[in-house]
This record gives sequence, C-alpha cells and structure tokens, in this order.
Amino acid sequence: MTNKNEKSHTCFTIPCNVNYPETIRKQTIKSSILIIFISLFCFSVQSQNPKKNYFSAPVKIPIYLSGTFGELRSNHFHTGIDIKTQGKTGFPVYAVENGYVSRINISPSGYGLALYINHPNGKSSVYGHLSKLSPTLTKYAKENQYKKKSFQVNLFPSKDKFPVKKGEIIAYTGNSGSSGGPHIHFEIRNTKTEHPVNPLLYIPEIKDNIAPKIQSIAVYPLSYDSNVSGKITPQQWTAVFYNNTYHLKGNTVIQAYGEIGIGIQALDYLNGSWSKCGIYETKLFDDDTLVYDFCVSELNFNKGRYINSHIDYAWYRRHYVRIQKSWKEPGNMLDNYKQLKNNGKLSLRDGKIHKIRYEIKDTYGNTSSLDFSIQSHRIPVTYPDSQRLNVAWDQPFLLKEKGLTADFEKETFYTNIQINCREKENMSSKFAAVYELGSKYIPIQNYYQLSIKPENLPKRLQSKAIIVAIDPASGHHQSLGGKYSDGLVKTLARQFGYFTIDADTVPPSIIPLNIKNKKTLINNLRISFKISDKLSGIKSYTGIIDGKWVLFEYDLKKQRITYTFDPEKITFGKTHHINLTISDYKDNLATYEASFYR
Ligand SMILES: [Zn+2]
Repeated sequence: MTNKNEKSHTCFTIPCNVNYPETIRKQTIKSSILIIFISLFCFSVQSQNPKKNYFSAPVKIPIYLSGTFGELRSNHFHTGIDIKTQGKTGFPVYAVENGYVSRINISPSGYGLALYINHPNGKSSVYGHLSKLSPTLTKYAKENQYKKKSFQVNLFPSKDKFPVKKGEIIAYTGNSGSSGGPHIHFEIRNTKTEHPVNPLLYIPEIKDNIAPKIQSIAVYPLSYDSNVSGKITPQQWTAVFYNNTYHLKGNTVIQAYGEIGIGIQALDYLNGSWSKCGIYETKLFDDDTLVYDFCVSELNFNKGRYINSHIDYAWYRRHYVRIQKSWKEPGNMLDNYKQLKNNGKLSLRDGKIHKIRYEIKDTYGNTSSLDFSIQSHRIPVTYPDSQRLNVAWDQPFLLKEKGLTADFEKETFYTNIQINCREKENMSSKFAAVYELGSKYIPIQNYYQLSIKPENLPKRLQSKAIIVAIDPASGHHQSLGGKYSDGLVKTLARQFGYFTIDADTVPPSIIPLNIKNKKTLINNLRISFKISDKLSGIKSYTGIIDGKWVLFEYDLKKQRITYTFDPEKITFGKTHHINLTISDYKDNLATYEASFYR
C-alpha cells in the first residue's frame, strides 16, 4: 500500500450542519405551516449539496450497514461504510461512477483484495474485502503476481488501461483480508489527498430515522485542585431516555470542582439492523455556549491512531467500552474538532450550577440530546505523591533501568504522563530479566526504541533473539521482533507492559489440508495448507510445482494458503512435484515436498 497507515485515518469539506430530509421527517411536526416551511428548507439544503447522489450504490442488494464512517475502531476511525451481504460472498460489485481503475491491492490482511477507481470529479471509490475481480482485471492482476512471484501486490494501472462505466461489474463481494464476516467495505476518497470522506453523503440515502443512543457520560478531574463527587478519579453516570430526551439516571446533579473534562458513550443504529454504528457529530454546551464540536466528515490515514487520545483509552482497555472525550489533549493532532473552547475543558471554580447539554447526530441528522447539571462545589483534595517519572509529551525522554533502556522521541505521548520501570523479581525468563515498563493503560502514538540486555543468551542464539511482551495472566510471549547488536536486543515498540528476551529457533508449521505424497488429485480444484509460526511470525512463503513458481493465495486470518489449479500452467494426466518453503522473521525454514497425480 502506498499509504502505510491505510488500515487505520480527518473533517473539512462537508459542512457538518447539513440536514437531510430524513432528519426533518423524524421530528414531530404538527403545524402544516411548519411543514411547508421545512420543505422549503430541505429543498435549499439539497441544492446546497449538489454532490449528493453523485454516486450510485456499489451493490444492488438492499443496503444494510454493519459499520459507518468514522466509527471508533482499534487504533483508527473506520474510513468507509461496511455493507452487509446477507452472510454470503459473490454478489456483483458495480462501479459507482464513470472513471478508471487506478489501483489493485492484494494482501493477506487489511483490505484483502481491494479495487480503487478514480472519478472525474476528483473523488475515488474503494471496494475492499472482495472475493474476485472482473475477468479482465483478474487476468491483469494474475499476470503481475506471476511476474513478481508474489501473491501480495500493489498495482497502479495507467489511466487509459481500464476505463470503467457507471454500473459496470468490476468485482464480486467477499470476506478477504482482515474481514470478520462477508461484507463489502466501501470508501470515497479525495483522490489528491487520499483523505476518506463520508460515503453516505454521496450515495443514495439509506433508510435511517433512528437517532443515536446515549449510554453514559463520564466526568474527569483534570487539574490539581479538581474533584468529581469528592474524588480524584473519573466518575461515570448512566443516561436514561424519557420525555423525548436523555437525562442522567435519578436526575443527579453532579458535584465537581476545578478544571474538568466530560466524555460520552454513545452509538448509532440504522433501520432494519442491530449493528452498532458510529456517531457523526458530537456537540457539548456549557450554559448554551458551544465548547466542543467533533465531526467526522473527512478523515486522514496518517492521524487515525490519535483515536487513542480521543477516547478514554484506559477505560477501553479495562472494559472494552469506548468513551469519547469531549476535550482535546495537547498531543492529539486530529483535525476533526470544529470547536474547542479552552480545548473543551470546563472550568468550574465559580460556585454556580452549570447547565450541560450534549447533542449527538448521525450522518442524516437524526439527533439525540442529553441535559444535566454540574454544581461547582469545592472540596479540598490531595493528590498523592508519585514515585514515578514524569514525561513531558513535547520533550524527548530517555529511560534507563538496569538492563532496560527506552528512548522516547518528543510527541510520543498525547499528554504528560508518569511511568516507572522495574525488574520483576517474581517473573523469570531464559535469556534476560523480566521488566515492567509503564502501564498498558497508557496510549502511545509513536514507536520508541526498546533495548534489553541479555543475561544468558548463548552466542549461537544471538541471531534468533527477539523482544517479547509477556501477558502476566497466561505467561504467553508475543513477539515484538528485534535484533541483537552491541550486546543488546533492540526493537521498536508502541506498547507498555512486561518485556523480556526470547529466541525463535522453531520453524513454522505446515499442515497439508488435502494433499499427501503420491496422492491422486483428479477431483481437487485446489491444494491448501495451514501455515503458522509460534513466535516471530511468517515472513514469506514460496510454492513451486514442477520447478515453476505458482500462485498460492494467502488468507492470514484463516492461516491458510491455497493454490487453484490452472489448466494453462499445469497439464493434466501426469505426475507433478510440489515443493513449499516457509520462512519466519528469524529465518527458520520449514519445507514440504510431495508428488501427486493430476
Ligand atoms: Zn470496513
């Protein structure tokens, strides 16, 4: 992929306050005069947005979404919409507008088999997790895979090679790459910047008159004199819906003091589906003043990971629930904040009651609101002294502790943090001490260099050494890769936790699924193997039949490689020889050989 952050993702071009007819329809309209007025209003909004319906839908089955644009995902915001495909694969995919094929990317993970089309209006459409391309595109992709002797290819055909017409079948839906079930991932991007924009603003309207659901809010003390309910830790309240709006359960008036931040847990649903989808825009008002406005009309692949600052990361790691913070930390560079008064933080030192209001919207403008009050109430609190090291988010920092060194560049963190590092006496490992560095609840934006000094690492294993993260509950080792040099094992890490050194000396495993030596494969259309590697992971594989490289397709989630017999390349009615070689990242090799008749 040209864009290395593509798996992961910004808000400018489309005004977030655009209201669509569905929004308006949803609201209770009693007066016919009002209806006339609103109809006129809708008309004017529509005409302000001539781009709408510029594209047709990419599939011709009824459209239900299992994911929306800007939805909160792991380490990124979702950059497209996920259209359900009835639990099946193989539905035709249609070009949403005239244009030309600009890219074909084939990968064992991420988007899987993905097709990109550039359109004359400066937008591109992207179709991901496909099972198959059209015959012409399949031939082109395969030729390139054989030429490069690689399943994984990223192809950029020239502008005049594959022109497409709106409505032309270009591919078939699938479940390839990191897809968790059959669906099509569909994106619209600004061709020049590659910034994804909200596809729902461009394709025909999907039925949706359901407003987002607000589940809870959390209030965070942010200054050294602040408290929430007399406590110095964040506090959470459940939201309940009655009288057409959301309230806090029990109509609680929150007591707080000092500088505070507020966060919200909310989801959106669309008609005819139970899939939990994302919120388009969140506004926060303090006594009718808009202090915060976050909107996902456009995203940026290079900034997607800042989601770990946008959400309460620690809460997410503890409870797998994402609370969106309504204030911005200094090291969070997301462009989606349209309004930030005092960075969204509230100053509650006036002894008064503040009327707080949240307004959250989906793309079509269906809106939910939550009203509650916070009483500024001073309670003397003491924040405990910490033994940990202070790291300023905008300064580099070098941490050295016995056999461990961690080198952080500036802006590795989103805000000032406190960390510690200690040797874990009660945890042992073969080749080095076990260190606890920082906490897994602290989010990290950029890689830092992590070095550990080995203690009992034999010379013959130096080339096999890696740094591993240890899960303290299971003892499981997860490879962070790395290399031995100058008496240290070094790697780049983007997580905190328990670390030590391990050595990967075990070759990958190859399990033949439908072949064995001297087998007759007359009725088989393909040959499959399950391939896996315990520690460092699979770096590469090569399949050879009768001395020639053949295309094995790789599905990482299924740990499976598959060769489909190609009558143009393998002649029938004779004995063939297959040879498979797999290498892990520490160059341990596994091979498989067999003869078969077909
Ligand atoms: Zn998707």
